[in-house]
Amino acid sequence: MSDLYCVFGNPIAHSKSPAIHAAFADETGQDLRYEARLAPVDGFLQAVAEFVAAGGQGANVTVPFKEEAFRLATRLSERAARAGAVNTLVFNGNEIFGDNTDGAGMVRDITHNLGYALAGKRILLLGAGGASRGVIAPLLAENPASLFIANRSADKALALAASFADMATVDAGNFADSAGKSFDIVINATSASLSGESLPLPPGIFVAGGLAYDMMYGKGETPFLALARAQGAGRCADGLGMLVEQAAEAFFVWRAVRPTAAPVLAELRAKLGQ
Ligand code: NDP
Repeated sequence: MSDLYCVFGNPIAHSKSPAIHAAFADETGQDLRYEARLAPVDGFLQAVAEFVAAGGQGANVTVPFKEEAFRLATRLSERAARAGAVNTLVFNGNEIFGDNTDGAGMVRDITHNLGYALAGKRILLLGAGGASRGVIAPLLAENPASLFIANRSADKALALAASFADMATVDAGNFADSAGKSFDIVINATSASLSGESLPLPPGIFVAGGLAYDMMYGKGETPFLALARAQGAGRCADGLGMLVEQAAEAFFVWRAVRPTAAPVLAELRAKLGQ
């Protein structure tokens, strides 16, 4: 019987994770099955218990259960503890290990797939929600020259920056507070692109050789990326590579084998007509 994994979410029908992990299993010769499991919004713990009883060995967790998965874990990786959220679970006897591979996935997409080093760069991170929190420690670990967190509500950005003060000096404020500064890499970790909304970003923040990165994917050019292109950003990228790379990192956590993400990413892009 193949080893069993799944992704929990609500909604989950749209998830690309089963196809991604099936491709990784093929590529690496690992004998596993990976399912999408819809958990009721108030029924995550029950869904996990049923999955473990059915022999499930590990799971990914997506919206809206990442914080609940964080609380469920009996042991956390350092990066999950920092993120305050878990997207990867490993079930091992009585232990539930919680990890978070989102930040590592985004960093690998930027540095490996897109070829932008983060060391010594000025980074602007837009948003102060779960996705933003999850990438801060992995970004700081790359030794950027500076990190500025800008959010619609400045107080959330300031609180987030303060919680990483032991790692580095992180500046924060609202979008207008980034006026007069330029950034080599601008990352949109707000959910504004989900609803097709643009962000009130001051002019001059993008630089010609720089990267504009939207964590959102699958919606074509987002208002953020359109603005970045119009303001002269050197390269614009969506978050599909982050999705595939966080999956590759989770696969590694479970199987101790690292799949090559590039062919799977290319196939997904072809399917999306990008
Ligand atoms: P949260 O709900 O935790 O946070 C949302 C953030 O977006 C907050 O900072 C909020 O600001 C801000 N925001 C929402 N709407 C607007 C708006 N209209 N204008 C300005 N700011 C806005 O969401 P997550 O952090 O979990 O997710 C953020 C994005 O990241 C989503 O689009 C998600 O799809 C994407 N993502 C992609 C991944 C990938 O693998 N590619 C992985 C994880 C997330 P405020 O605090 O003021 O409310």
